[in-house]
Amino acid sequence: YARESVVDHVSYFSKTKADEIRRRFLIANQLKGAAKRQEWELVYQPIVDVLTGNLVKVEALLRWQSHELGRVSPGEFIPIAEKTGQIIDIGKWVLEDVCSQLAYWRKTGRNAVPVSVNLSVRQLEQESFSTGFKGILKHWRIPSEWIQVEITETLSKGNLPRILVNLNALSRMGIRIAIDDFGTGYSSFSYLTELGLNDMKVDQSFIRATAQEADTEKLVRAMLQIAEGLGLQTVAEGVETECHHEKIKALGFTYGQGYYYARPQRAEVFEREWLTTKQNKSI
Ligand code: C2E
Ligand code: MG
Ligand code: MG
Ligand code: MG
Repeated sequence: YARESVVDHVSYFSKTKADEIRRRFLIANQLKGAAKRQEWELVYQPIVDVLTGNLVKVEALLRWQSHELGRVSPGEFIPIAEKTGQIIDIGKWVLEDVCSQLAYWRKTGRNAVPVSVNLSVRQLEQESFSTGFKGILKHWRIPSEWIQVEITETLSKGNLPRILVNLNALSRMGIRIAIDDFGTGYSSFSYLTELGLNDMKVDQSFIRATAQEADTEKLVRAMLQIAEGLGLQTVAEGVETECHHEKIKALGFTYGQGYYYARPQRAEVFEREWLTTKQNKSI
């Protein structure tokens, strides 16, 4: 019996490994033409002032509803698109769509709200990135204050000189830059000052743990001190409960984002609930 179960285990393992490779291959394949088949959609998640609950900006998050594969989460397809290089086209689509949405909101008289867009290292390594970025904003006549970008600490593993040229160009255009998932990257602090950062988004794992663990709270306090030292505004990610909310308020975070305030929403829902009637959602 023991022997049998070992064999079972081995064959089960190799099957899942093969499945995993097949799935990655399928995803990369289906990513081709996803834009043409209109399988992309952006959802919008409010970022609020912790003290007042007022909307201050909104993060655009990509959703993929594949005809072949069904819903695939960005956590699964973004890393694949980064490996294959498809993230370059996807990233362009995202920025175009955000700009067209902002242009629509402007046209229909909505109050403007800055939209925060996630960037991949691969995009920032493109020599023409900042020029292309500028071109898209110009095409839609979107002021640079309406767009922000989020980058992660994986940056340090990329072509840093290239990335810095692009980031500095964005800064000069007046685009705000946020460091996303802060605390999860284990990267060196030395380059933090070179990125031209404006915001620090503390990863949701810390927000969750800080409600329970005193040691994590000390760590978060230290992050807030780094932010203060660098003159950055702070965003707490993944605020799910009243308890999280009270905690980040006590710690002194400027902004909060998470299911407690709002889930990522389709553009029409976000616009109905946050851009017209509920500009002062009380929490
Ligand atoms: P992120 O930029 O850190 O985005 C925050 C993630 O946390 C989102 O997951 C959001 O749905 C989720 N979230 C928000 N509030 C809560 C909460 O209260 N609790 C929990 N458990 N989760 C919460 P999502 O949309 O699945 O995106 C995952 C990641 O995929 C993003 O993490 C980002 O790194 C990447 N991503 C998403 N859209 C894009 C995009 O357009 N371009 C690029 N390059 N990456 C993207
Ligand atoms: Mg983000
Ligand atoms: Mg994040
Ligand atoms: Mg994240």
